[in-house]
Amino acid sequence: MKITRRNFVKTGALVGGGVITNQIVSSKIFGQDADKGELIAVSTWGGTVKSSEKAYEFLKNGKNSLDAIEAGIRVAENDPTNSSVGYGGLPDEDGIVTLDASIMDWIGNAGSVAAMEGIKNPISVAKLVMQRTKHVMLAGDGAKKFALQNGFKEENLLTENSRKAWEEWKKKNPHGVNRVDEKNHDTIGMLAIDNSFNLSGGVSTSGMAWKIHGRVGDSPIIGAALFVDNEVGGAVSTGNGEFVMRTVGSFLVVEKMREGFSPQEACEYAIKRIYKTAKQNKDIQVGYLAVNKKSEVGAFSLYDGFSYAVAKGSETKVVKSKFLA
Ligand code: ASP
Repeated sequence: MKITRRNFVKTGALVGGGVITNQIVSSKIFGQDADKGELIAVSTWGGTVKSSEKAYEFLKNGKNSLDAIEAGIRVAENDPTNSSVGYGGLPDEDGIVTLDASIMDWIGNAGSVAAMEGIKNPISVAKLVMQRTKHVMLAGDGAKKFALQNGFKEENLLTENSRKAWEEWKKKNPHGVNRVDEKNHDTIGMLAIDNSFNLSGGVSTSGMAWKIHGRVGDSPIIGAALFVDNEVGGAVSTGNGEFVMRTVGSFLVVEKMREGFSPQEACEYAIKRIYKTAKQNKDIQVGYLAVNKKSEVGAFSLYDGFSYAVAKGSETKVVKSKFLA
């Protein structure tokens, strides 16, 4: 393979645990001339404020944005009261918790896991997929096997509360009607800029509650729920992932910022793109959250109810997102 200035990868090198990686290890063209912003961590939904705080604490201590994202998202994954992420996440129609997650750094490296069972911190597995393999995405049993081989423990992710919620749903929907609405989904999507002005992002979710077993949402798909370009900015999504996937939403937001849109304008553009085809469907919700290299933040959703947390300067605040209809 030709090694270029843009794409200098560690092909064939033995890294941590003897696994071959294709991770990009340097890229001089990324981020060097961007307008400089300030330390910032943002996360989708007001309920994830502790995640943004944790990430910001990492940034203030001089840690890089990738480690800050992982630490912040782990807070939500470990919280049994968060019913849409990690441990305690609502299961699929068979009563099985399956998790999706992705992570991306400032050089353009990415890792993700899809439909993974029994591992509490999919964001950390996604990070290892990125750092220790040649691949971007591992799914299902393969993702779990990789996690176990790399020191993760198998755990029961179904809490008493999520089991009861599933039983009640099952009683009302014995044939497994996959109705999704605002009450049975939420994803943590995070973006952070560190003191080297480098941007990273991550997403983690148990996906749509009561989904068909094996369904994968937008969260582990790079360009759908997550995209980061250190020259421009980053975006994450939450909501009905099918609509995000069909429009490659986060990539669209970042590309609009590249053209000169503010993060707010770019999120509005991507939501309007979904609304064009989905306006007759009032049961869905999609929200985007974006940050540019100046640490400016934008967010927009289809309908009322989306919020996000911003940790910047001396405070962390929860902000209600603007919405379209
Ligand atoms: N986007 C996630 C999915 O489709 C769910 C959510 O954010 O609520 O799996």
